[in-house]
Amino acid sequence: MKKKYQEIVDFIKNVYEDKHIPLHRPLFIGKEKKYLLDCIDSNFVSSVGEMVNKFEKQVSNFTGAKFAVATVNGTAALHVSLKLAGVLPGQEVISQALNFIASCNAISYCGAHPVFVDVDKDTMGMSPVALRNFLIKHAEKKNGYVFNKYSGRRIAACLPMHTFGLPCRIKEIAMICCEWGIPLVEDAAESLGSFVNNQHTGTFGMFGSVSFNGNKIITTGGGGMIITDNEDLAKRAKHITTTSKLNHPYEFEHDEIGFNYRLPNLNAALGCAQMENLTKFIDIKTQVFKQYHQFFERIGVKLVESIPGSTSNYWLNAIVFDSKTERDQFLDYANKQGVMSRPIWKLMTHLSMFKDAQNDLLVNSLWLEDRVVNIPSSVPMRNYV
Ligand SMILES: *Cc1c(COP(=O)(O)O)cnc(C)c1O
Repeated sequence: MKKKYQEIVDFIKNVYEDKHIPLHRPLFIGKEKKYLLDCIDSNFVSSVGEMVNKFEKQVSNFTGAKFAVATVNGTAALHVSLKLAGVLPGQEVISQALNFIASCNAISYCGAHPVFVDVDKDTMGMSPVALRNFLIKHAEKKNGYVFNKYSGRRIAACLPMHTFGLPCRIKEIAMICCEWGIPLVEDAAESLGSFVNNQHTGTFGMFGSVSFNGNKIITTGGGGMIITDNEDLAKRAKHITTTSKLNHPYEFEHDEIGFNYRLPNLNAALGCAQMENLTKFIDIKTQVFKQYHQFFERIGVKLVESIPGSTSNYWLNAIVFDSKTERDQFLDYANKQGVMSRPIWKLMTHLSMFKDAQNDLLVNSLWLEDRVVNIPSSVPMRNYV
């Protein structure tokens, strides 16, 4: 085993031509500094400014979503999306337990409760079969709404996630949500640049949420974006993320409880420059994926790849070990040698806050939790120096 781990470590060091390799680092090779200085010179560094408008336009053009509303981070984008999808305190949102904590936090900010269905082994995202089975077993329609017979609560939304940029089976999920009349919100935090049949992830339901945190494929330092095709919902999103202030040259009037969730112009300036390089980043990351694919095929280790019909941004590559023991041995070995690697998240049901959440036994989620490891996936140095 040691020999195999060393071979992996050597290969990664060779790809990155370095001794200490982070999992993912940001890359500023465009007009970031220029746009930041423009911002500072203009004095518009905070809540309003042209960079925010420009950044929103760029994301809307790139994703094909009709509207995009920038937020202070991806979690805020999720929170507002769920709220505007109609999620109220005491209701439920169906999500996946194999996930970063942000989805469940956003559900909790709405006063709602997550329930979990299993993921598919290949996409590591919500399984449409598991979703359908859960609904057939536990849900019933009453007065046009869907209720959970087990808890008595209304099921107010469905929130799948595109894990590490790999699209989940979102078309099938969207169809099921449509049949049941359950609003669909996609956590597309990791999947900017990932498509299903040439349609961008995050555009299959009512809302999609993107993140521009420092570790994502492009970054604004911190930031997020709500995308939607619905003009009224986009206007509502802009309104409540900017303290619900009514337009007036000098008076303060607010017509509901709002949030200070707007993205500062400074951060948007970074975003504008980063967007100009997004396609380049995706191309290079796809090359890195192909290099990894050849190598891991040769040594007999499974590298996760996108399923037919979908294309991944290959934000973060993941390998699957045969057992937890092997996984732990590798993590220890690689990290000690400066090749940063980390296990996939603990299941949400293994965190104290969500340990009692209803779920469907999560067979695949549990299997993946023990075996999946992320390996360094940044754009390599030689591609830009
Ligand atoms: C990054 C991320 C988010 C949003 O995170 P922020 O740090 O708030 O921008 C949400 N969901 C997933 C799956 C993520 O990876």
